[in-house]
Amino acid sequence: MILCSHVESILFPRSCACCNISLFCPEDSRPLEKRDRYGRSCSGRPSYKGFLCSRCASSIRLLISPLCSVCGEPFKTPAGSDHICGRCLKNPPGYDTARSIFAYEDTIQTLIHRIKYQAQGYPLKALARLAKPYVSEIVEGMEQLDLICPVPVHASRLRQRGFNQASALAYEIFDRNAWWICPDILIKNRRTPPQVELSRQERLRNVKGSFGVKDPSLIRRKNVLLFDDVFTTGATVSECARTLKKNGAGRVFVVTIARAWIKGDRHPVNLDNS
Ligand SMILES: [Zn+2]
Ligand SMILES: [Zn+2]
Repeated sequence: MILCSHVESILFPRSCACCNISLFCPEDSRPLEKRDRYGRSCSGRPSYKGFLCSRCASSIRLLISPLCSVCGEPFKTPAGSDHICGRCLKNPPGYDTARSIFAYEDTIQTLIHRIKYQAQGYPLKALARLAKPYVSEIVEGMEQLDLICPVPVHASRLRQRGFNQASALAYEIFDRNAWWICPDILIKNRRTPPQVELSRQERLRNVKGSFGVKDPSLIRRKNVLLFDDVFTTGATVSECARTLKKNGAGRVFVVTIARAWIKGDRHPVNLDNS
């Protein structure tokens, strides 16, 4: 068996899904430590073996408590427990709760860019494998879910890109044959300018009224999981959730692979290593 996998790795050398270096070296057969967003090592050793080198894997940071119990925004210090943040108290979002798995930086950012703009299948599989155990843990802790709606893109963008990265990731992470992934219920009616350079308020205005529901009878009183790759200000998922609820959905939960909150707000990695 060991000989078989050894021969296989010579015949089909694997490379890192992020930096492309060959993974056929002893360095990369070590189990890797799981680190949280403060750089502390956590219990458990997720498997990166076979698709990421140890250097790329070590830059991945998990978003863990303490965080806002509604929008999932991590608080700036590791002390205390989950509670609602000031922003959610003042302006409750359209969804019930949102959670993200990784900080949107370094390796995770590169993998998502490769999936989104270069339509690469290997980074898609690698990211799905990395995120799957954490997504499953979050989903298991949620109320009964009836269906999953990947955040849609406009038909013209879908033609241009050939696929929707939120749907592609959902099919990789959840059961491929799961009837409960419904990529066609929530639709994007209007093409909106890219959100990248916009402020939170501008993003909200930009997406307002841009989504619709194809057949409201399919979501009536159903609990929906909205699934996307990146959560930035939450304007898009909030608008999607409002649209779903306006059309009769019950509760709407959000899960994204990554969250961009941490830009320019990075804790020293040795913050709590004592
Ligand atoms: Zn690498
Ligand atoms: Zn919040």
